[in-house]
Amino acid sequence: MSVLEKIQNLSKQYAADAVQNRRHLHANPELSFEEFKTAEFVARELRAIGLNPVEGIAGTGLSAVIEGRNPASKVIGLRADMDALPILEANDVPYKSTRPGVMHACGHDVHTSSLLSTARILNAIRNEFEGTVKLVFQPAEEKAPGGASLMIKEGVLQNPAPHSMLGQHVAPNIPVGKIGFREGMYMASTDELFLTVKGKGGHGAMPDQVIDPVLIASHIIVGLQQIISRNRKPSNPSVLSFGRFIADGVTNVIPNEVTIQGTWRCMDEEWRADGLTRIRKMAEGIAESMGATCILEVVKGYPFLKNEPELTRRTKSAAVQYMGEENVIDLDLWMAGEDFAFYSQVVDSCFYRLGTRNEARGIVSGVHTPTFDIDESALTIGPGLMAWLAVQELKEV
Ligand SMILES: [Zn+2]
Ligand SMILES: [Zn+2]
Repeated sequence: MSVLEKIQNLSKQYAADAVQNRRHLHANPELSFEEFKTAEFVARELRAIGLNPVEGIAGTGLSAVIEGRNPASKVIGLRADMDALPILEANDVPYKSTRPGVMHACGHDVHTSSLLSTARILNAIRNEFEGTVKLVFQPAEEKAPGGASLMIKEGVLQNPAPHSMLGQHVAPNIPVGKIGFREGMYMASTDELFLTVKGKGGHGAMPDQVIDPVLIASHIIVGLQQIISRNRKPSNPSVLSFGRFIADGVTNVIPNEVTIQGTWRCMDEEWRADGLTRIRKMAEGIAESMGATCILEVVKGYPFLKNEPELTRRTKSAAVQYMGEENVIDLDLWMAGEDFAFYSQVVDSCFYRLGTRNEARGIVSGVHTPTFDIDESALTIGPGLMAWLAVQELKEV
């Protein structure tokens, strides 16, 4: 039997356990940096298959290694995130969250259970692949500064140091049975912008007596969009959106100040920094030219996620071997953020999507919604696929 067939068989064999693990995690979700029970569960499962996890990395993170033949020849890292979101689950399912207001609405329960099964498969065939697999179970993908950045700081990419990293994420927009890849820029950096425009409030009937922060803030919003349309290279995607504009006056009272909040997203670290400088300069300049001041505070988020092209091409063709050409699709850019990006900035990485949609069964809700769910047959695919991708990549020297 070929290694491919062995992995496919094991994946089928362990699928029911993967579903059971996913349901356990789904019913017992924990928020970012609070994944205590989840981490205990992961450690227990890893020990049950004979692995020896390192615990307590960045709080609740874990790692473990599976050594194949010639363990020092090459190392690949496989990552799953473990945290849930502050959302009240609206699904009526047997595995519904038992913690009101906390829900695995981004599929991290699926990523964790899938990687546990991948570990089981790889451990069962450890004499049939070269090199070492490093499993990374990380906290807090959903919360700044991101569990990935903290785990990297605490050395998860050392001893042994992965040559490459793979990450998998559920995709409620892709039918179950399909897998999506994209080379190069894939997901965006995310910075949060907080602007305060200070003018001088007063009676709406006496505009000559006020420095109107409402009008000035409006000019700032319109002006800043021109950074996107006039300064950004058209080939370089980025987004500047404002979702909050608070001018707390009334019909005839102009307030003293206005606050604006928005998000700045890029696919290029240089442009990310350059654009921020321009945003600051223009916001301050517009305010000043109209007699007001503008203070900009930036909360830096995740970097942009780049899928190393060669690794992604190899991984994609390995996926074609596993799934068949018709089930491997190309992904579009996505301007959302993902802390797997931190790995992608320092080691060759590939982040791909596991289809979990099933329209016939009504499983169509997006991530971060109270009705998000997956077609669990994705768990007959995800674990084995990741094992196969790892084994194939380890062959490359
Ligand atoms: Zn999410
Ligand atoms: Zn996620």
